[in-house]
Amino acid sequence: MIQLTDIHKSYKTGNSSLHVLKGISLHIKKGEMVSIMGSSGSGKSTLLNILGILDSYDSGSYFLNSQAVVKMSEKKAAWFRNNYLGFVFQSFNLISFKNAMENVALPLYYQKVSRKKRNALAMEYLEKVGLADWAHHLPSELSGGQKQRIALARAIISEPKVIFADEPTGALDSTTSFEVMKLMQEVNKLGITVVIVTHEQDIAEMTDRIIRLKDGLIVEDIMQKKVMA
Ligand code: ADP
Ligand code: MG
Repeated sequence: MIQLTDIHKSYKTGNSSLHVLKGISLHIKKGEMVSIMGSSGSGKSTLLNILGILDSYDSGSYFLNSQAVVKMSEKKAAWFRNNYLGFVFQSFNLISFKNAMENVALPLYYQKVSRKKRNALAMEYLEKVGLADWAHHLPSELSGGQKQRIALARAIISEPKVIFADEPTGALDSTTSFEVMKLMQEVNKLGITVVIVTHEQDIAEMTDRIIRLKDGLIVEDIMQKKVMA
């Protein structure tokens, strides 16, 4: 489903260049739950942004669902981002003036689903993450854990095949992190491939496979027995 071969990426700032990914090869199968670990600055977000077709790479190849990402038109890439991939970020990225239900419904707005239908579906997904009672609250009235559950509902409402999460528990305390990871595991059980960037070992242990990055290279890639929440 995800096949990376010898991916390189540098950032150019002025006349200097920072070589961030130095030859990443990686295969992630459908239905896997994977974490990408590494210290700050090791290239985790850069890698995840490339996987999510949010950023480009300099050399190597990336096949997503057997399609060459480099050859994709912007229209096709947008289709993948909107229909095939779901995203969750450390800072939740909710729209502050929209309530929980409207935030969850947002991807369907872009897919031109009618308001009535998208709000009804959003309520279903709020139910799935245990927040139906909070549908009409604004993000500022929700806790961090609730915001991340809203973000997760928004990520799965378009029924993606893969969820990419960049430090989804980075702003949460350990109890709340555990709850969010439990939901991630439930999402994975539905057959959705889950890729989580984290620098916390106990979060990584709640996934099936830990990939460790160091200085832009994969230094360890281990399958493990997942800790179930
Ligand atoms: P991580 O997520 O593992 O902390 P990142 O992928 O965000 O690491 O960053 C890897 C390196 O690339 C860091 O040194 C960071 O400062 C640099 N970097 C990230 N994004 C950019 C950018 N847009 N322009 C220039 N340098 C960047
Ligand atoms: Mg990062």
